[in-house]
Amino acid sequence: MDQETIQKHIQAGKIAAEALHYGKSLIEPGAKVIEILDKIEEKIHQLGGQLAFPAQISLNEFAAHSCSDLNDATILKDQVIKLDVGAHIDGYIADNALTIDLSGKHEDLVKASREALNNALKMIRPGVALGEIGKVIHETITSYGFSPVKNLSGHGLGHYNIHTSPSIPNFNNNNERILKEGDVIAIEPFASTGAGIVQESSPATVFTLLNEQGIRDPITRNILKEIRTYKGLPFAKRWLEKKFTTPKTNFALRQLSAKDCIVHHPPLFDQARGMISQAEHTVIVLEKPIITTWHEE
Ligand code: MN
Ligand code: MN
Repeated sequence: MDQETIQKHIQAGKIAAEALHYGKSLIEPGAKVIEILDKIEEKIHQLGGQLAFPAQISLNEFAAHSCSDLNDATILKDQVIKLDVGAHIDGYIADNALTIDLSGKHEDLVKASREALNNALKMIRPGVALGEIGKVIHETITSYGFSPVKNLSGHGLGHYNIHTSPSIPNFNNNNERILKEGDVIAIEPFASTGAGIVQESSPATVFTLLNEQGIRDPITRNILKEIRTYKGLPFAKRWLEKKFTTPKTNFALRQLSAKDCIVHHPPLFDQARGMISQAEHTVIVLEKPIITTWHEE
């Protein structure tokens, strides 16, 4: 990896981490989720970054992909709150997440995913097998008496590509594939008090453009022009609602779905409705790995 690319990853990581911790400072009982998400996204832009995906806040049994649409009135109270934030510089992405427990009852659950992440980070180097990373995550989380979420995993970060290979398991899947120098990966353990398996809920408020075939309607084509500026990265329904109104956005998303032009990313929740915590960092795999999203607690 050349120096310029490394610098862009580092810059994206700084911005993503600063925006994440700014968001963390806004999390308190009575705060409106939609306002926190808007402020985090504004912060990323102020810091000179672009959005790698919509900022997301997932509550309690929801692990990921909860994102306010324009009429979301959700207010924070005594929940387990996962905040997930991503930024990019010229397509070089940083992805990070943390959990805040406003219930006061799930401190250990928060610790379990964070410690699993820290233990995984300590072993990152070229040559380590993916299954070995999963094993350490699994062992750390189960040592607290919780289950890792097995059907969610960390992932490689490609250029303008948020989910690429390798997939970093949260349990030992016996994958002998090894990390290579120059891999950029997000490691994201999830700990659950429930099943440790998530399933999709509906409806989705986050989407990715797949192709543009067969769209002739002028309203949808106009919205498609905007979606194209996200360059294949995930986008929020809310972003479009602000620009084009809710009815036009709904109309366009329905058309794009009918033609299989967009992928839906619906909220994911624990099958047994257990509480879930998450921790995530982005790392460049080198002999001396660089945690691009590193930040003081
Ligand atoms: Mn993330
Ligand atoms: Mn991720």
